[in-house]
This record gives sequence, structure tokens and C-alpha cells, in this order.
Amino acid sequence: LGTATVVAGALLLSGCSGASGGDSSGGGDGGLVGVAMPTKSSERWIQDGDAVKSQLEEQGFSVDLQYAEDDIPTQVSQIENMITKGAEALIVASIDGTTLTSVLQEAADAGIPVIAYDRLIRDTENVDYYASFDNYQVGVQQATSLLNGLGLTELDGTPTDGAPEGPFNIELFAGSPDDNNATFFWNGAIDTLQPYMDEGTLVVASGQTDFQQAATLRWDGETAQSRMEDILVSTYSGGEKVDAVLSPYDGISRGIISALTDAGYTVGDEWPIISGQDAELDSVKAINRGEQYATIFKDTRQLAEVAVNMAVALLNGDEPDVNNTTDYDNGEKIVPSYLLESAIVVKDNIQEVLVDSGYWTEDEIAG
Ligand code: BGC
Repeated sequence: LGTATVVAGALLLSGCSGASGGDSSGGGDGGLVGVAMPTKSSERWIQDGDAVKSQLEEQGFSVDLQYAEDDIPTQVSQIENMITKGAEALIVASIDGTTLTSVLQEAADAGIPVIAYDRLIRDTENVDYYASFDNYQVGVQQATSLLNGLGLTELDGTPTDGAPEGPFNIELFAGSPDDNNATFFWNGAIDTLQPYMDEGTLVVASGQTDFQQAATLRWDGETAQSRMEDILVSTYSGGEKVDAVLSPYDGISRGIISALTDAGYTVGDEWPIISGQDAELDSVKAINRGEQYATIFKDTRQLAEVAVNMAVALLNGDEPDVNNTTDYDNGEKIVPSYLLESAIVVKDNIQEVLVDSGYWTEDEIAG
């Protein structure tokens, strides 16, 4: 983040922070920035929204922060309202990456720059920059956490000496098919697991190996729970056991855990290795209890900083800092991106990665 910080350091804006309270708040004289987030039903977006809002306010901006509860028309009308209220820049984490084309044309017509936040906005010229994590690498890390839990590799992916031969039964879950990130996570994970599937160490016993079969609309935990229940009935009623489950998100992992518990699996006794993402508090606790093996930590404070620096640079007529200009083609153009790094969290490094960094306190994790 070194260079991103330099961009922030170059700002002309006052540091006065405005009144806060509601979702729409006054800042200094830096103008209004609209921040559209998908839903409050997942903790990470609340952390993201809070971090973006407070960082913008510290720099003297007013912020209109809105959550759309995963309803696409709601998100479109929230963005329309931001434009009407005179927002000078938009930071948008989309619900469905393909549904914002006409509202973003309105933004472009009004000369408002748009930053895609975490999720790429697709099918439009009118997205200027993209702030995210290395999403392919997140998928690699999810798969690596499973291989590690099965004893096949170290946490850095190096094969372990005397690794078990398996075969291990694995089931695969993907994220929401309308979220550009879901395919990146999936591709990273499958590329990592494929050699083990090819040699027969890992076996997808259900046979459900296509992204479309594995996808979970809106990342919904209950949808994942019922698919896992169906798989347990169709494939594992004869006494076979699931050894690992690829899950792309903590909420999906919790659905999978419920299905396993309901089917009679117990922790400590042939309980499968399960991955996740976002280091949500409930899932960090589940990792401590041994229900979930790992999650992927993406520091929302850093992502907020990148997005805020991009918006502020654009408003000052400067060029935002990017580190990737090749990977994120939205169907209309390659969107210049700044990608952050993520980290695998397992029980042993919760303290180091999540507590020492101040993301969660010891009390929150214990509570
Ligand atoms: C985000 C993930 C999150 C998922 C579900 C994705 O776009 O990158 O961090 O787990 O959405 O909210």
C-alpha cells in the first residue's frame, strides 16, 4: 500500500470529519461520495461500508452509504438517488455485476467517476477503476487450505513428506454465478485441486464438478445447506464419508456444517475439512471449535483505503495507483485494478493474523 498512501498524502483536503449518525452524513467541504454495498446480511460488507465511510469522512467528504439487501432494483435506485443528490464519485460493490449498465450511463453522462469495489462491474465502459483482492489467488488459498487439512501439503502448498495416499472424497461449492469473483475463486481452486483429482487422490464422489452445478446463487447459506443435504443423501447414504468440502465463503461453510451435523457427522470423528472466506466472526469461532478448518482473510480496512484513495485521486484530477492492467476484462474493457493480498487463517494463526492485526479482539473471538 506504499504508493497508495503517497496518493493520499498528496491530498489537498482538510482532515475535518463530519457529523456521523445516519447512513448519510455531512463531512467537510470535499463533496459527496456515494457508496453502494450489496447487503448487511454478511458481516464483511458492514466492515467494508464502515471503513470506506469513516476514511472518506476523515478526508473531509460527505458519504451516502447504502445497502441493498441483495435486491438488484434496490441497488439501482440507490445509485440513481446518489446521482440525483449530486454525488461526485461512486464506489460500488455490485450485487449482480451485469445489471448496472444503464444507471452507470447516467453517472457517466453526469461526469461521475465510478470505482468497482471488490466485485467487478461488467458489460459497461463506465467503470473507471477496480479495487479488489487477487481473487484467483483467493481460490488457490481455499484449495490449499483443504490440501493442508488433509495432510497433503503445507500451508504454502509444498507437498508434505509421507503424505497420505487417499483417496479422499471431496465435494465442491462455488459462489454466486452473477458475481465475477465467483469464477476467479473457482478457477484458482480447481487449478490447484485438479492434479490431485487426476491422480485419484481426491474424488468428487457426487460427480458434480461443473461450476454451474456447484454455484450458489447470492452466496446463500441455506441454498448451500440444502445442496449439501441432497449430496449426502444421493451419494453418501451407504456409509461412505465426505472428507473435504470446498466452500468459497464462510456463510456457505456454515450451511454445509449444518447439513453435516443434521446428517450425524460429529466434530473430531471423521469430520470433513472445510474451507471458507472472509474471516467472519461466527466462522472464526467455528474454526476454534474445529468445525471449519480454514478461512481466507481479506483485510477490508486495506480495501477501503485503496478504494478511497482511488476516489480521492480522481476527484483531485490525479491518476489512481494500480497494480494490474491485464486480468479484469469486464466484457467492454480491461478495468485498471489494484489487487490486494489475502491470507489463509487456520486455528493456529488466528491470533497472529486476526487478533494481532486488530481485525478482531480476543474477546470478540472468545465471546
Ligand atoms: C467477495 C467475498 C464474499 C462473497 C460473498 C464476493 O464477491 O469477494 O469476499 O465472500 O462475495 O459476500
